[in-house]
Amino acid sequence: MFINDLTHQELEKNITQIGMPKYRADQIFRWIHKSLESDYVKMTNLSIKDINCLKDSFQYDMISIYKKYASKVDETKKYLFELGDRNIIESVFLRYDFGDSVCISSQAGCNMGCVFCASTIGGKARNLRASEMLEQVYMIQKDTKTRIDSIVVMGSGEPLDNYNNLKKFMNIITDENGLNISKRKITVSTCGIIDKIYTAATDNLGFNLAISLHAAIQEKRNKLIPASKKYLLKDLIEACDHYTLKSGRRVTYEYIMIDGFNDTDEDIKSLTALLKNSNCHVNLIPLNPISEFNGKAPSDIQIRSFQRNLMKNKINTTVRRELGRDINAACGQLRNNHIK
Ligand code: SF4
Repeated sequence: MFINDLTHQELEKNITQIGMPKYRADQIFRWIHKSLESDYVKMTNLSIKDINCLKDSFQYDMISIYKKYASKVDETKKYLFELGDRNIIESVFLRYDFGDSVCISSQAGCNMGCVFCASTIGGKARNLRASEMLEQVYMIQKDTKTRIDSIVVMGSGEPLDNYNNLKKFMNIITDENGLNISKRKITVSTCGIIDKIYTAATDNLGFNLAISLHAAIQEKRNKLIPASKKYLLKDLIEACDHYTLKSGRRVTYEYIMIDGFNDTDEDIKSLTALLKNSNCHVNLIPLNPISEFNGKAPSDIQIRSFQRNLMKNKINTTVRRELGRDINAACGQLRNNHIK
């Protein structure tokens, strides 16, 4: 059993089961999730007997930095982490005016098959445990020596295809005895697994929901995201509106812009019709090319014009600011290069 994969409640239960007093669970939880200490010996308020007991009963789910790429134009850093079973995942540190953020992976690889994404090329190796998601944040916080203010679950993997571990991750990262990051500072990006959007609303997970929309015309979207074939756009928007109602959180629709494919007047019309009654925000993202997909981003002028037209139609729209341009390999590309 991995000690850092246990919620506070689970830790209490397991600690008492091995004969340690309940208050020790609070201390150990704080060491692991607040002080980010993985070595039992350095948990200075534990007795030798307790330390030995922990060593006998639990493992620590470790990940290690395999490679790090630091931008020369800003303070972005990309990390390749090696998991215990030698799988490789990607994470990114981003410095904004409003604070420091990390983008983490939720699966090693991905099964969703989005045609513009390098993460899906080898399929999904496996789901990440909550501890492996947490450790990405902890390792980056320790490496950069800064307090992480916000998290986006937008690296490789479809987080809602790993729902139970995502839920546990949310539980631990928002615990007041841990990093205590507000739900409102956590964004989960999904290609739109509708039943899990409803479940997240019912479970009150409270994260910011970002949908990889990329097209407002069903046939076009199916071409970009094969997994979306079973989810009708109107049902997806209905689920997102429900999420907004339950959580009070405005949904973001991510829209990767591909020259000549989803940047036409017809796309503006369809996007407007689809979202005009929703409390939402559209984020335009210029396509980041990968060799396996034959497409390029429209020019900056075209993207700005697309944005203006949506704004005219009262659709709140921004263009994503690019950080780490010089190391800006598309999502999954670093991991993929490593696997090759
Ligand atoms: S974009 Fe996200 S959901 Fe789609 S294949 Fe890549 S990692 Fe998976």
